Amino acid sequence: MTEAQLEDFRSILESQRDEVQKNLKDHEATLNTPSDNRDFVGGDKAQELENNETNTALVKSEENLLQKIHHALDRIDAGTYGICEGCNGSIPLPRLEAKPSVSLCITCQEAHENG
Ligand SMILES: [Zn+2]
Repeated sequence: MTEAQLEDFRSILESQRDEVQKNLKDHEATLNTPSDNRDFVGGDKAQELENNETNTALVKSEENLLQKIHHALDRIDAGTYGICEGCNGSIPLPRLEAKPSVSLCITCQEAHENG
Protein backbone atom coordinates (compact mmCIF):
# COMPACT_ATOMS: atom_id res chain seq x y z
CA MET A 1 0.00 0.00 0.00
CA THR A 2 1.27 3.47 -0.84
CA GLU A 3 1.57 6.37 1.56
CA ALA A 4 -1.23 8.17 -0.28
CA GLN A 5 -3.56 5.19 0.05
CA LEU A 6 -2.80 4.99 3.76
CA GLU A 7 -3.63 8.65 4.19
CA ASP A 8 -6.90 8.10 2.32
CA PHE A 9 -7.82 5.32 4.71
CA ARG A 10 -6.83 7.47 7.64
CA SER A 11 -9.18 10.26 6.63
CA ILE A 12 -12.02 7.79 5.93
CA LEU A 13 -11.50 6.20 9.34
CA GLU A 14 -11.33 9.56 11.07
CA SER A 15 -14.62 10.71 9.58
CA GLN A 16 -16.21 7.35 10.44
CA ARG A 17 -14.92 7.73 13.98
CA ASP A 18 -16.43 11.21 14.29
CA GLU A 19 -19.75 9.97 12.98
CA VAL A 20 -19.88 6.97 15.29
CA GLN A 21 -18.89 9.12 18.26
CA LYS A 22 -21.71 11.50 17.46
CA ASN A 23 -24.27 8.67 17.12
CA LEU A 24 -23.02 7.13 20.31
CA LYS A 25 -23.50 10.39 22.18
CA ASP A 26 -27.05 10.71 20.85
CA HIS A 27 -27.97 7.18 21.84
CA GLU A 28 -26.39 7.44 25.25
CA ALA A 29 -28.24 10.67 25.86
CA THR A 30 -31.51 8.93 24.97
CA LEU A 31 -30.71 6.04 27.27
CA ASN A 32 -29.81 8.34 30.13
CA THR A 33 -32.97 10.39 29.89
CA PRO A 34 -35.27 9.26 32.70
CA SER A 35 -38.66 8.37 31.31
CA ASP A 36 -40.35 10.69 33.84
CA ASN A 37 -38.85 13.64 32.06
CA ARG A 38 -40.08 12.53 28.70
CA ASP A 39 -43.23 13.60 27.07
CA PHE A 40 -44.78 10.30 27.82
CA VAL A 41 -48.48 10.17 28.47
CA GLY A 42 -50.26 7.15 29.80
CA GLY A 43 -47.33 5.09 28.81
CA ASP A 44 -46.74 2.09 26.72
CA LYS A 45 -44.12 0.62 29.03
CA ALA A 46 -43.38 -2.32 26.75
CA GLN A 47 -42.73 -0.02 23.84
CA GLU A 48 -40.45 2.09 25.98
CA LEU A 49 -38.50 -0.93 27.14
CA GLU A 50 -38.19 -2.12 23.59
CA ASN A 51 -36.83 1.24 22.51
CA ASN A 52 -34.32 1.10 25.32
CA GLU A 53 -33.22 -2.34 24.29
CA THR A 54 -32.78 -1.22 20.71
CA ASN A 55 -30.76 1.74 21.90
CA THR A 56 -28.64 -0.41 24.19
CA ALA A 57 -27.89 -2.77 21.30
CA LEU A 58 -27.04 0.19 19.07
CA VAL A 59 -24.73 1.68 21.68
CA LYS A 60 -22.97 -1.67 22.06
CA SER A 61 -22.42 -2.13 18.35
CA GLU A 62 -21.28 1.47 18.00
CA GLU A 63 -18.80 1.07 20.86
CA ASN A 64 -17.57 -2.05 19.18
CA LEU A 65 -17.13 -0.30 15.84
CA LEU A 66 -15.45 2.68 17.50
CA GLN A 67 -12.93 0.37 19.10
CA LYS A 68 -12.19 -1.22 15.72
CA ILE A 69 -11.75 2.19 14.11
CA HIS A 70 -9.36 3.30 16.86
CA HIS A 71 -7.47 0.07 16.44
CA ALA A 72 -7.24 0.58 12.66
CA LEU A 73 -5.94 4.13 13.17
CA ASP A 74 -3.33 2.77 15.60
CA ARG A 75 -2.33 0.27 12.97
CA ILE A 76 -1.86 3.03 10.40
CA ASP A 77 0.48 4.78 12.86
CA ALA A 78 2.29 1.53 13.55
CA GLY A 79 2.67 0.77 9.86
CA THR A 80 0.75 -2.51 10.12
CA TYR A 81 -2.49 -1.34 8.54
CA GLY A 82 -3.75 -3.71 5.84
CA ILE A 83 -1.91 -6.69 7.31
CA CYS A 84 -4.09 -9.49 8.60
CA GLU A 85 -3.77 -9.98 12.36
CA GLY A 86 -4.55 -13.65 11.95
CA CYS A 87 -2.10 -14.82 9.31
CA ASN A 88 0.08 -11.74 8.64
CA GLY A 89 -1.00 -11.85 5.01
CA SER A 90 -2.13 -8.67 3.31
CA ILE A 91 -5.82 -7.85 3.38
CA PRO A 92 -7.07 -7.26 -0.18
CA LEU A 93 -7.59 -3.57 -0.96
CA PRO A 94 -11.25 -3.96 -2.05
CA ARG A 95 -12.01 -5.49 1.34
CA LEU A 96 -10.41 -2.54 3.12
CA GLU A 97 -12.24 -0.11 0.87
CA ALA A 98 -15.54 -1.78 1.72
CA LYS A 99 -14.78 -1.83 5.43
CA PRO A 100 -11.73 0.20 6.42
CA SER A 101 -11.85 -0.93 10.04
CA VAL A 102 -11.26 -4.64 9.35
CA SER A 103 -8.10 -6.19 10.73
CA LEU A 104 -8.53 -9.74 9.43
CA CYS A 105 -8.55 -11.18 5.92
CA ILE A 106 -11.68 -13.00 4.80
CA THR A 107 -10.27 -16.44 5.58
CA CYS A 108 -9.30 -15.49 9.13
CA GLN A 109 -12.53 -13.58 9.65
CA GLU A 110 -14.54 -16.66 8.72
CA ALA A 111 -12.42 -18.88 10.93
CA HIS A 112 -12.91 -16.38 13.74
CA GLU A 113 -16.68 -16.27 13.30
CA ASN A 114 -16.94 -20.04 13.21
CA GLY A 115 -15.12 -20.16 16.51
ZN1 LIG B 1 -5.63 -13.84 7.60
